[in-house]
Amino acid sequence: MPRTLITGGAGFLGSHLCDRFIEEGHHVICLDNLITGMTDNVAHLIGHDAFRFIKLDVTEYLYIDGPLDYVLHFASPASPVDYQRLPIQTLKVGSLGTHKALGLAKAKGARFLLASTSEVYGDPVIHPQREEYWGNVNPVGPRGVYDEAKRFAEAMTMAYHRYHGLDTRIARIFNTYGPRMRASDGRVVSNFINQALRGEPLTVYGDGSQTRSFCYVSDLVEGLYRLLMSDEIDPVNIGNPKEFTVLDLARMVLETIGGESTIEFRPLPLDDPRVRQPDIGLARATLGWEPKVQIAEGLALTIEHFRRQLAGSY
Ligand code: NAD
Ligand code: UDP
Repeated sequence: MPRTLITGGAGFLGSHLCDRFIEEGHHVICLDNLITGMTDNVAHLIGHDAFRFIKLDVTEYLYIDGPLDYVLHFASPASPVDYQRLPIQTLKVGSLGTHKALGLAKAKGARFLLASTSEVYGDPVIHPQREEYWGNVNPVGPRGVYDEAKRFAEAMTMAYHRYHGLDTRIARIFNTYGPRMRASDGRVVSNFINQALRGEPLTVYGDGSQTRSFCYVSDLVEGLYRLLMSDEIDPVNIGNPKEFTVLDLARMVLETIGGESTIEFRPLPLDDPRVRQPDIGLARATLGWEPKVQIAEGLALTIEHFRRQLAGSY
């Protein structure tokens, strides 16, 4: 039975990965300090023979007994609201936490996968973004704490690969949505859906002409799994290339949910990227992967999740 450690395993993406690796027959160790995650996300796995939860900050000394085959480093605040509220923790988990997770993988001879991000491209001047693009990041702006932490994490991962011969993978994840996002995490999909379900105005920042490309969580997990099992050492974009304006998204959510909500325009946050769309040519060619879930289907599944949560059924 392969043994897999997932840092940030009680978060949105990490908990879906715990499910997937259990399904694949792995023993899963979920390590999380619950700074933005919730034990509710993995409650259904507690008591499972192949699952263990450890409450720990990954920036601290890591001791794990027994062998490990895979280390997936997903710990980090990810929503702009979260990482701007937790700037030092975000820098620490991306730097010190990545170093600790890499050190653990090296000690165990495990394969390591880093959850990197489209934010390494910053406010991109190349569109869509290919992996060769070095990005356009403001290191001292409010988003710098996240962007630079992830850029450092990529550099550290490549250094462990080149210097120590560690078997590493880097996923550059683009905006992902789905069940288990926190209703209050401040990201656009969770905000719009919860605002519409409550009959409140949808808060569009700026004029809503900025774009994002939204990937449903099951597609992302499949892409990550294939990347981990592939031979691709260089960073790989994993995301859905279908691009929407934020205003398009607001209208789609309103149409799907119905109700009385209106659209309210708010100031655009500083350094908010104007455009974002992955070029997934590398993932298509090397992983044979592309997303399958259309936005209408993904939104319906996510709306259902938040509807049940609001109704207090879990
Ligand atoms: P999330 O906030 O739901 O999950 C992050 C998890 O990491 C939480 O459970 C949190 O408690 C844990 N954590 C944070 N700091 C920690 C620490 N020091 N020690 C132990 N645990 C810690 O966010 P998410 O959306 O699931 O993102 C997971 C990863 O994927 C992050 O690394 C993020 O940067 C990356 N990512 C996500 C997206 C996305 O669209 N969701 C896009 C790009 C990259
Ligand atoms: N956004 C918005 N209203 C909200 C939340 C976000 O218009 O209530 C915008 C935000 O300014 C950005 C886009 O939606 O242009 C995506 O924001 P999110 O926080 O989801 O993630 P980002 O892609 O910026 O990391």
